[in-house]
Amino acid sequence: MQQCPSCSYELTMQEQVDNPDSCPKCGIYFEKFLAKQAALKEAALSESGRTGGLAGAKAGMRQARAKRAEQERELADSRSKPTHVSVVNFDVPFWDLVRFLVKFVFATIPAAIIVTLLVYGFASIVSVIGMILR
Ligand SMILES: [Zn+2]
Repeated sequence: MQQCPSCSYELTMQEQVDNPDSCPKCGIYFEKFLAKQAALKEAALSESGRTGGLAGAKAGMRQARAKRAEQERELADSRSKPTHVSVVNFDVPFWDLVRFLVKFVFATIPAAIIVTLLVYGFASIVSVIGMILR
């Protein structure tokens, strides 16, 4: 359920469908309102707020808007980029590689046991089915 940040009016489902961006009661635009609030807070915190409340707030608002635009751009970028990685080259010291390969060989032992058990299990299920059908 969406609530207006300004007058805390709770929007009905229909109102949200008709106009999801603004409040039907007080008419504010949620995004603008929230941006303004964030900007005011930022301006109050920052030193530049000293130069004049309104000017500081306006600068803060511009900053907030630029930041949001950048975030949206980044999001669009990350969506359009493929997620695969291609390794062009990697350099491993010899003994590190040896250690890795020894580890790898030892890791194949439990892996082989697991695969063997799976195969035997599957084979026994098939043979039981075969006996039943016979
Ligand atoms: Zn409202």
